[in-house]
Amino acid sequence: MKILKTIALSALTVLFISCGGGDKKDDQKEEVKLKTSSSTTTKKEDPNVTEVVLLANDQMQFNTKEIKVPAGKQVKIVLRHTGKQPVEVMGHNFVLLTQDTQMSEFAAKAATARDNNYIPEGTDAVIAHTKMIGGGQETTITFDAPEAGEYTFICSFPGHYSMMNGKFIVE
Ligand code: ZN
Repeated sequence: MKILKTIALSALTVLFISCGGGDKKDDQKEEVKLKTSSSTTTKKEDPNVTEVVLLANDQMQFNTKEIKVPAGKQVKIVLRHTGKQPVEVMGHNFVLLTQDTQMSEFAAKAATARDNNYIPEGTDAVIAHTKMIGGGQETTITFDAPEAGEYTFICSFPGHYSMMNGKFIVE
């Protein structure tokens, strides 16, 4: 009889322990849920900035011929050179021209402005531009989108604009 009682008691103890364990598990789940929701909040992006990733390579090409952005917001251009050539040989930049700028005329002037990153000094033909980068490099600029309309972007490294140009549309 005494032995049976002990067994019954220990069985009860096991029951209590497993119940307690169950409660603990629920607590942990709740904690995980809370952590997940708070990290989602911190990942929120700035709705007033439109981010555009533009790739350029050793074949003298941008990865797109058209960039579309909404008017009245900021634009963040991330220019990434995916090639291997150094900046002196295969330099790339992003230059956004004003609407009344002639692309080929500007490019001819820019080609002579080697000491100024191939941007003519004191020019009013440029809305925004990045610095010139070589293979494996990345550069970023942020600027206010110009008023709605169609613009031209180029790479102003000598000889590149004829292949490296595209439309920048603000709508
Ligand atoms: Zn280039």
